[in-house]
Amino acid sequence: MTIEAAAQAAYIVAALLFILALAGLSKHETAKAGNTFGIAGMTLALAATIGLAVAGTLRPVDLALLVTAVVIGAAIGLYRAAKVEMTGMPELIALLHSFVGLAAVLVGWNGYLHVEAHLTGEEALALDGLGVLGIHSAEVFIGVFIGAVTFTGSIVAYLKLSAKIKSSPLMLPGKNFLNLSALAVFAVLTTWFVIDPQLWLLVAVTVIALALGWHLVASIGGGDMPVVVSMLNSYSGWAAAAAGFLLENDLLIVTGALVGSSGAYLSYIMCKAMNRSFISVIAGGFGIEAGPADDKEYGEHREITAEGVADLLAEASTVVITPGYGMAVAQAQYGVAELTRVLRDRGVDVRFGIHPVAGRLPGHMNVLLAEARVPYDIVLEMDEVNDDFSGTSVVLVIGANDTVNPAATEDPTSPIAGMPVLKVWEAEDVIVFKRSMASGYAGVQNPLFFKENTAMLFGDAKDRVEDILRAVTERVGAR
Ligand code: NDP
Repeated sequence: MTIEAAAQAAYIVAALLFILALAGLSKHETAKAGNTFGIAGMTLALAATIGLAVAGTLRPVDLALLVTAVVIGAAIGLYRAAKVEMTGMPELIALLHSFVGLAAVLVGWNGYLHVEAHLTGEEALALDGLGVLGIHSAEVFIGVFIGAVTFTGSIVAYLKLSAKIKSSPLMLPGKNFLNLSALAVFAVLTTWFVIDPQLWLLVAVTVIALALGWHLVASIGGGDMPVVVSMLNSYSGWAAAAAGFLLENDLLIVTGALVGSSGAYLSYIMCKAMNRSFISVIAGGFGIEAGPADDKEYGEHREITAEGVADLLAEASTVVITPGYGMAVAQAQYGVAELTRVLRDRGVDVRFGIHPVAGRLPGHMNVLLAEARVPYDIVLEMDEVNDDFSGTSVVLVIGANDTVNPAATEDPTSPIAGMPVLKVWEAEDVIVFKRSMASGYAGVQNPLFFKENTAMLFGDAKDRVEDILRAVTERVGAR
């Protein structure tokens, strides 16, 4: 068997492994196996690609450059993956998407510089007659466009997720018109470039796409960022597929299409869970206009001490805990698990209510609670618990904010209006654990904090949970 045939066979096996990886990652129980399939597929793909390159026209100096790039890239990747906190995952993923976008832009430009830029008039005419040149030019142009949109879009997502810029949506006048005009200009320039591939057209599309990517993501508000991350994941897949066409690499096309379509489907599911219009989010907040500034008076909030919470818990028969991003920041999950155990030992019915976008990545809270060994069967999805709050004695809101904000259901002018939330305020008593009166990720004030049955327990969530545990255990010991 020739090296080419072996590499093609390896590509097919790698593509199957990627499909198995996606299937595995869709369930808790099989996620680890899914990850292993993904790693095996990628290792095989890399080995086959390097093998193909070596068997081809690669000079020793090119091979040395390739190996150096792979070693440096792998070392940086391993270092970052080992160091990243769970709360920093979405921004790291956004940054990685930007690399895929940049790679697609470079592959596109490289394709132009190798083919279109070097053709003599006769060669161009001959290729044109076969239609090959037109297809190549379209691949270059479309690949550069998708790649550049993904590149700057992902950088803005990274900056927003890491709080380096504000997460509120940018509201340029006529923003929908700007987006639509960019798309229309892209369509016209693509046709032009296919007919006559001139350098200035490629420069123009690169600049327009970079600006469009930036604007699309900058226009999306904080609450919709989870969808943006999965949407950019999808774009990065299509960018990779476009690069695959140019490089004539079938595996890259298949893998890009897998990532592109699964990312698009995840975005759709998340939009449905958050009651958002899919089209509106992928079109950069299309149709969302600036709402009135929030200058409402919400009244006074009430504070409580850890001892006060221990008193309430001593009387409670049912408790629901709704964790959020703050639990992850404080690493309070171990104390929360211990408090759950102590309360359950005393006959209290304790359950968890998990909002689909709590924390900073899908499944964030489930992972933390599983790590702290909270039994799976008391960790419920929002829909499974949302009708039970009215019969609940105490709700402990641990570092959650947007996901328990009643404005989403009560105030149609709120930026998060329509997003389903945990209806914690229907319980007898609600305790909110946070460090200050600051707003959550979406930057929206939370009227829950000012309700009569709500009390604020200020401070780091881990310290406060430990204070409550101490107070509860002292009480038990004193009896
Ligand atoms: P939020 O981000 O709305 O609020 C978290 C709260 O935790 C803050 O109000 C903060 O208040 C508090 N907090 C932070 N650190 C601590 C600490 N050490 N101890 C106690 N409290 C702390 O969290 P939610 O989980 O409710 O909502 C998630 C938000 O993130 C949503 O808007 C969602 O759209 C968005 N998002 C979700 C993603 C996902 O995939 N799940 C991805 C990207 C964004 P204070 O500073 O006063 O302590």
